[in-house]
Amino acid sequence: MVKRIEICLPPKDIDSFEKIKQLVLKKLEIKSSQKLIDIITIRKSIDARSRSPVFRLIIDAYINEKFIPKPKILDNYATIKSSPEVIIVGAGPAGYFAALQLIELGLKPIIFDRGKDVQARRRDLRAIQQEGIVNPDSNYCFGEGGAGTYSDGKLYTRSKKRGKIEHILRLLVEHGATSEILVDAHPHIGSNKLPKVVANIRETIINHGGKIHFNSKVTDLIISNNSNGKRQIEGVIVNNKTEYFAPATILATGHSARDIYTLLFNKNIRIEAKPFALGVRIEHPQSLIDQIQYGQKIRDINLPAASYSVVCQIEKRGVFSFCMCPGGLIVPAATAPNELVVNGMSLSRRDSPFSNSGLVVAIEIEDLEHYNKKEFSGIKNPIFNGLKFQQEVEQTMFYSGDGSQKAPAQRLIDFTKGKFSQNLPKSSYIPGVFSARMDQLLPSWIVKKLQKAIPEFGKKKKGFFTNDAQIVGTESRTSAPFRIPRDSENFMHKDIIGLYPCGEGAGYAGGIVSAAIDGENVAKAIAERIKK
Ligand SMILES: Cc1cc2nc3c(=O)[nH]c(=O)nc-3n(C[C@H](O)[C@H](O)[C@H](O)COP(=O)(O)OP(=O)(O)OC[C@H]3O[C@@H](n4cnc5c(N)ncnc54)[C@H](O)[C@@H]3O)c2cc1C
Repeated sequence: MVKRIEICLPPKDIDSFEKIKQLVLKKLEIKSSQKLIDIITIRKSIDARSRSPVFRLIIDAYINEKFIPKPKILDNYATIKSSPEVIIVGAGPAGYFAALQLIELGLKPIIFDRGKDVQARRRDLRAIQQEGIVNPDSNYCFGEGGAGTYSDGKLYTRSKKRGKIEHILRLLVEHGATSEILVDAHPHIGSNKLPKVVANIRETIINHGGKIHFNSKVTDLIISNNSNGKRQIEGVIVNNKTEYFAPATILATGHSARDIYTLLFNKNIRIEAKPFALGVRIEHPQSLIDQIQYGQKIRDINLPAASYSVVCQIEKRGVFSFCMCPGGLIVPAATAPNELVVNGMSLSRRDSPFSNSGLVVAIEIEDLEHYNKKEFSGIKNPIFNGLKFQQEVEQTMFYSGDGSQKAPAQRLIDFTKGKFSQNLPKSSYIPGVFSARMDQLLPSWIVKKLQKAIPEFGKKKKGFFTNDAQIVGTESRTSAPFRIPRDSENFMHKDIIGLYPCGEGAGYAGGIVSAAIDGENVAKAIAERIKK
């Protein structure tokens, strides 16, 4: 018999199996004929609503029977060396999880990524951090594992599809992630552990017969007309020279592959503008966030660095925190020279003295009509307004500095009052910050909303609205400003047979787990079509 129960315990007892067992036995009131065999934690969360935070555990108690672990997913994989091939453009979470799913279904993935493998990619990250040099094909967004590799590695998603989420998390564990992610309410891997997991996924793909090509930028799509006069994709051209052919192509290039959007537009393949968000990164001392959330300036050793989420509506637009990184670092996430983009990451222990989060304003398509006449990469079309706007803000931030990746920053209260900060608090941002009038660098309609929202957040979270915090520019790559339209049933592009837009860049995901789920969904749709 298995009984599901909930127990609560203070942080000091969370690692004590004996304490947990005592609480389970007390709650179960089992009879003398019954024996508690196994205690399996299903869910672990922190409840910080009262003065002293507690852990809440949902537990399956196995009485008179043993817990039998699920078989490994990888045990089901067959070798696919001579199976039909599927091209995948992009080795991010969407591309890699599509590849794993294809293998599980007996198809052979051929992956192309413009960037380098995780190890080689590190050198380019160092060059951005220390010398301000941005390699447009290898950076915090491009390269093996995609934007998810050197990230915070938060694995929570708003998706409610438990089965699909569990499949992704189990695969991550089978590739080396800690099994705690299967039970934590807010699972997290950390950017020191993610590269190894990504490299292990690569090994699985190659060992089963798949192929991965790095330094291989897809520069064109080979499109033909079929006998019914419909357009179909035959394959791709890599690095402007080599052609590859397959009956299906997954396009999983992420939200920063701006050249892919122009390529699609120029080939008359439909893309659509979609809303996104833009703003700044906000950085507080972590001890202050711990104080706000836990009531503890020096937090209990067993409690993780506290996180937060804030949201409000200002003049019909959402202003909200995004991709919060407790105990983390702000990183330079530009994908081209002369741009300044910031994002956040953390190590698995989340032990930096800083907390950072995106603080962004929702942007609707109609907010950008004043860009209608501007050009992006020689294209004058309103569907590119989002990209034009993102790039303009990123370049304004860059040119406000000294030509390096040093980022403009302003103390929080100074920002809301439109005041220059005489000096700045310490920051985790390695290239460095300099004092600037962020309230003048950002578009005024974004500034006004942030200036109204920030004091509101301060009312909800006492201590949040402080000059010990600073904002750093700019958080502009929250999601893609485009959607690549696809059929909701068969996941194929609405106009091009065999082309499968996928993941965040196509507008169907926002984050590691949702991108991975989308990759799996697309792979299943392809298998159904190819195997018919
Ligand atoms: C610093 C940082 C921190 C983040 N932290 C988190 C977090 O903690 N949790 C979370 O859920 N999300 C986080 N994100 C967002 C998350 O990484 C993305 O949502 C996710 O990676 C999207 O997956 P994807 O596969 O759709 O695209 P991507 O991960 O963007 O992958 C796209 C891939 O396509 C490749 N590519 C692009 N163009 C071409 C081309 N023409 N030819 C060949 N290859 C190409 C790129 O090199 C890249 O590898 C973070 C992002 C960043 C940048």
